[in-house]
Amino acid sequence: MPDAAAALLREEVGADPGAARRPPVALDEVRLPDPRLPGAVRERLAAALGAEHVRDDREARVAHAAGRSYPDLVRLRSGDASSAPDAVVMPGSAEQVGAALATCAEHHVAVVPFGGGTSVVGGVEPVSDGFAGAVSVDLRGLDRVVSIDRTSLTSTLEAGLSGPQIERALAAEGLTLGHFPQSFEYSTVGGWVATRSAGVASTGYGRIDELVEGLRLIAPAGEVDARALPASAAGPDLRELLVGSEGVLGVICDATLRVRRAPDAKRYEGWWFGSFAEGREAFRVMEQADASPDVARLSDEDETRFSLAFASPGGAVERLGRAYLRARHRESGCLAIVGFEGTAEDVERRRVRTASLLRAGGGIALGRRPGELWLRSRYAGPYLRDELLDRAVLVDTLETATSWSDLESLYRATGDALRSSLAGRGTPPFVMCHVSHLYRSGASLYFTFMARQEDDALAQWRAAKAAASEAIVTAGGTITHHHAVGRDHARWMRAEVGEMGLELIRAAKQRLDPAGIMNPGKLLPS
Ligand SMILES: Cc1cc2nc3c(=O)[nH]c(=O)nc-3n(C[C@H](O)[C@H](O)[C@H](O)COP(=O)(O)OP(=O)(O)OC[C@H]3O[C@@H](n4cnc5c(N)ncnc54)[C@H](O)[C@@H]3O)c2cc1C
Repeated sequence: MPDAAAALLREEVGADPGAARRPPVALDEVRLPDPRLPGAVRERLAAALGAEHVRDDREARVAHAAGRSYPDLVRLRSGDASSAPDAVVMPGSAEQVGAALATCAEHHVAVVPFGGGTSVVGGVEPVSDGFAGAVSVDLRGLDRVVSIDRTSLTSTLEAGLSGPQIERALAAEGLTLGHFPQSFEYSTVGGWVATRSAGVASTGYGRIDELVEGLRLIAPAGEVDARALPASAAGPDLRELLVGSEGVLGVICDATLRVRRAPDAKRYEGWWFGSFAEGREAFRVMEQADASPDVARLSDEDETRFSLAFASPGGAVERLGRAYLRARHRESGCLAIVGFEGTAEDVERRRVRTASLLRAGGGIALGRRPGELWLRSRYAGPYLRDELLDRAVLVDTLETATSWSDLESLYRATGDALRSSLAGRGTPPFVMCHVSHLYRSGASLYFTFMARQEDDALAQWRAAKAAASEAIVTAGGTITHHHAVGRDHARWMRAEVGEMGLELIRAAKQRLDPAGIMNPGKLLPS
């Protein structure tokens, strides 16, 4: 962590850089409950999948006990893996997935589909109360590129393929999926589709839900094949029921996704706006003029300060920013990153048009350096969480979206709720935000919040999370723009879809998963 960043944390949240570190406990110190899967179930799973693909050793169980949310990390680092599954199974085909689900349904064992395990909303934490046990179904063995159709620009991919595996296979054919969530290195096709994920370039390439052309789901009651078609008028779209189903209906075994020709040229650059409001308005005009780049991010004043302290203290971006502020007699400003990908000619044509709109909206071009810095380090930020947790700093993110008309009030309400919850408990907070996904009618807001960790770190987090979620729902935002519902947002689903909406999802679940074994406790409120 750069000195400037440590100083900012000390100033803002009172984090003591000299305090003793709190490293995570070693693997053999983690507390695990005894496995309680009935012997007959274990034997049947081993017969169907091969004994080596049914594990109940310490390492496998701890690695599948939780996802990667702040509460997950707090619990795991302190040695609490009480939620660990009784066993982890690793099917190698859709048929083996079906066999595992049949066995678990028959014996009333809860099943958690597990992709990369990067859920930040409690999506992969096993819930086994009322069940004979819990099994995580690790899907990373479903790793075949089934087909690549260069004519139709589609590719059928098995669920367990990770971001780098997919991009490598597509690059060999001159193609890209263009889906780059910050968890790209670990997350999987199945996880993306099951959570309606959005990547950092989704403004240009589209969210995963826009890229799904077809998919296959294996449920305890049978298989649903939402076949791949460019478009159809044959009734309600089954894909839309299955995309975002978060493992509660069944296991997505493969998906056919829309791909593109790999870009020959990329151009990423920085822009500077006098205020968050000014930048947002410029982004709105740009988006509604169909002139958005593929990546468009605008940090608020606090996130800009934070980024400068972490990314480039005293560097080119900071110097340009300061010069801008001096010239305008301003104290603060906001950094934006815009990125274009495509053919060289297309990138240049789009860039010129976008630049003229951003300039008309008050933006100052900072050149390529800030954009290239951001592109190079786009997956690095999250690793900082470990460093911050070592220093006993609460750090978490949450995200929402609403219309352009309501964006300002949602921004204020969510930020204020986080600040007052954390400050009310006596820990000065630092809350920052960026806009990162643009739509014709609105945009997403992505908040990062930090505070000195209290002794009861989970209670402190729960209070802040609940305050922010209530504020989001009251201000009319969605409870999640791309992280999904999981366990952490389930209680706000009623506000999101209404009672009848919940009943419809439950009816689909009842038909596909009559024993109710699929990912209990997620998506639907209890
Ligand atoms: C550092 C970090 C950065 C992140 N950045 C982003 C981001 O930029 N954009 C974004 O959208 N999200 C992001 N996330 C959240 C997370 O990566 C996404 O939700 C991702 O889509 C999860 O993929 P996964 O393969 O890890 O799924 P998992 O975490 O394993 O599972 C997520 C959910 O989907 C279910 N599931 C998984 N696979 C299947 C399947 N094949 N069939 C049925 N259900 C399944 C699980 O049961 C669970 O409910 C980030 C997370 C981290 C830790």
